[in-house]
Amino acid sequence: MSGPIERRNAVGVMVGNVKVGGDAPIVVQSMTNTDTADIQKTVEQVADLARAGSEIVRITVDRDESAAAVPHIRDKLLARGVDVPLVGDFHYIGHKLLSEHPACAEALAKYRINPGNVGFKAKRDTQFSQMIEVANTYDKPVRIGVNWGSLDQELLTKLMDENAENGSPWSAARVQREAIIQSALLSAQRAEELGMGRDKIILSTKVSNVQHLIDVYADLAARCDYALHLGLTEAGMGAKGIVASSAALGILLQQGIGDTIRISLTPEPGGDRTLEVEVAQQLLQTMGFRQFLPVVTACPGCGRTTSTVFQELARDIQDHLNTSMPIWREKYPGVEGMSVAVMGCIVNGPGESKHADIGISLPGTGETPAAPVFIDGEKAKTLRGEDIADQFKLMVAEYIEERFGG
Ligand code: SF4
Repeated sequence: MSGPIERRNAVGVMVGNVKVGGDAPIVVQSMTNTDTADIQKTVEQVADLARAGSEIVRITVDRDESAAAVPHIRDKLLARGVDVPLVGDFHYIGHKLLSEHPACAEALAKYRINPGNVGFKAKRDTQFSQMIEVANTYDKPVRIGVNWGSLDQELLTKLMDENAENGSPWSAARVQREAIIQSALLSAQRAEELGMGRDKIILSTKVSNVQHLIDVYADLAARCDYALHLGLTEAGMGAKGIVASSAALGILLQQGIGDTIRISLTPEPGGDRTLEVEVAQQLLQTMGFRQFLPVVTACPGCGRTTSTVFQELARDIQDHLNTSMPIWREKYPGVEGMSVAVMGCIVNGPGESKHADIGISLPGTGETPAAPVFIDGEKAKTLRGEDIADQFKLMVAEYIEERFGG
């Protein structure tokens, strides 16, 4: 049988106006890298991420100035018509910031709590409880986000000691996995004991190794029905980060595990933060879970495409679709399900173009300089001349207007 395994049945959690888990589609989220105390920069980046398609955006709340900025950031975004739920990322002093900045606690749609650094020894329980109590007061959900880089060392040591006394001990990696899972589950249990509903709890257990991530989430998913946030932590830069995240999350999603995803890419210096949103969308779309953008099928090109016309057209069409989507989404409902083929020569060009809603087979080296265009599987026209690319873009626009307009 092909296709993903039926999605795991997780309790739905409302994060602002966005549902995570339950019957909701898998949600795309992202995180800013601006100083949250810099209100204007943070507003700009959150708006960019939301415009790119991030359905939830997380911001760092690391000190008083950041916490004080949060309600202003939320208000400025709303004034610009950006109603994306904001999640506060808290470490070490979250209990203090949430208690001392009620407007911040109210403005955020969810609090991220890391049980590994919410406090140590006796203080841990008090400080964790304090954050849960604020969440209960403001009726906010939380993500209990365990990260192996900041794992609760007391719990890990306890499990290591118990394991050492076990007749058939587990490997160190397995004990660590168990500590990550227990840290999440015990914290969730504690939150429930403090009166938090299961519909207010999302869990994540992030590690940076692909195989370990798959193991830890598969195990966690089997042991609870909380909604799960997936992400490979510290995935890295460029192709490595994209491939590692896609491999790990793709396998888990195929197993029906995961209710919201974030791709943790390290941006190039000066790079565009929205890349992480694009990768998350592409992952969900190429696997058939959701549709965000029209799909452009393009062959890789080879020795039969010696001119740059083919690469330029493929890039132009993709860019045109990406930049037009914010407007088209409103104007042409359903356009995100469209497929476009841009093919380099006669070998696979006509065949692939016929499978797309609209496709063009460009002339390869040595072929007659003519480009047949196929619409809904039928040859519609043959384009000739120097401006084949512009003619095709016009045909795409006409096709969209005719099929999705009005
Ligand atoms: S369709 Fe033609 S140009 Fe494209 S990869 Fe195949 S043979 Fe090469």
